[in-house]
Amino acid sequence: MDSVHGIRYTTPLMTKENLKGMPLRELEPKLMALGHPAFRARQLFRWVYQRGQNEFENMTDLSKVFRKELSEKFCLASLSVDRAEHSADGTIKYLVMLEDGQKVETVFIPAEDRNTVCISTQVGCKMGCKFCATGYQKFTRNLESWEIVEQCFLPFPRPVTNVVMMGMGEPLDNYDELIKALEILQDPLGVKIGKRHITVSTVGLSPKIEDLAKKGLANIAISLHGTTQEQRSAIMPVSRKHPLEELIVLCQRLKFKGRRRITFEYVLIKGVNDSNEDALRLAALVKNIRCKINLLAYNENPFCSYERPSEKRVLSFQSILLEKNLTATYRKSRGADISAACGQLRTASLNRVSQNAARSLAFSPEP
Ligand code: SAH
Ligand code: SF4
Repeated sequence: MDSVHGIRYTTPLMTKENLKGMPLRELEPKLMALGHPAFRARQLFRWVYQRGQNEFENMTDLSKVFRKELSEKFCLASLSVDRAEHSADGTIKYLVMLEDGQKVETVFIPAEDRNTVCISTQVGCKMGCKFCATGYQKFTRNLESWEIVEQCFLPFPRPVTNVVMMGMGEPLDNYDELIKALEILQDPLGVKIGKRHITVSTVGLSPKIEDLAKKGLANIAISLHGTTQEQRSAIMPVSRKHPLEELIVLCQRLKFKGRRRITFEYVLIKGVNDSNEDALRLAALVKNIRCKINLLAYNENPFCSYERPSEKRVLSFQSILLEKNLTATYRKSRGADISAACGQLRTASLNRVSQNAARSLAFSPEP
């Protein structure tokens, strides 16, 4: 079976459109154009995203005639798992096979009070951050909205409560598909993950951050990783286009509803950005921003020669931020046993109490 932009070709003569990945605002008019009332779209939506049903014929409260019409005209695409690796701490990494043979990683992270899934938004990434394994892979393509959402429907051992867009790729570089996916994820008739339980992590594409904040569909985490323009652009080339100052000014301006605040992720890399001076500069940078800071220790990977700082260094860095009355969390990596000999790295935040986690999660090279 082949697939191009959501259209699936089941036989050479028959093309079927995939209905997955359409938020209700698209699904309703689609079915209405075929003469069906809007509530049919809502029924279908619930079957697909709340019950995970992929066969129209099993949607028993839809009329037989309607089910037949749906299966003649449409399909419901799904992803397959190529490989799964289980960590002793319960973390599971899935290597997910896309219809065109590309692969992305999805990580399931169980914790006492939540089950988080860390999902990818692109195959590869264009941003080329110097410390990131994905940044060393060539960008292949954007994921479609259904491929983003569908990563929440892998055969996990427990129901998903939280979603973080911290897998492969830069979510805001695939903006339209990201928005559709977020709409489906948080829709009470859809996957029904509360907006406050969804986090989008971005390298800092300022104009899109502003738009995403206005839409209020998810929490926003910004990968900062540097305290001066020079330092940041040396490890994150995107900083040349969207300078640190622009990012900070934007964050000062952003308005969030209720108690929401922005998250800054800060990966400490030994001798690069982990000094006490950096901690003081970081505190000064964010002092007027309602934020929390997630500190992560750099996970070493075979693509670059950076080193992970000592635990002591990270804790001293954290204590400086705490002394400045900032919320700064640090949590040791999990899934370490399955990240050994890794080719790629993934990070995910979890745990409501510490609100922070860093991990290096990757598949060992294909045999
Ligand atoms: N592109 C987005 C989201 C995916 S990366 C972003 O950059 O924010 C998710 C997080 O993993 C980012 O904070 C990123 O900086 C971090 N990360 C990448 N490589 C890492 C590594 N080797 N060690 C620790 N964190 C890393
Ligand atoms: Fe892309 Fe994020 Fe990796 Fe940078 S850190 S290369 S933006 S995935």
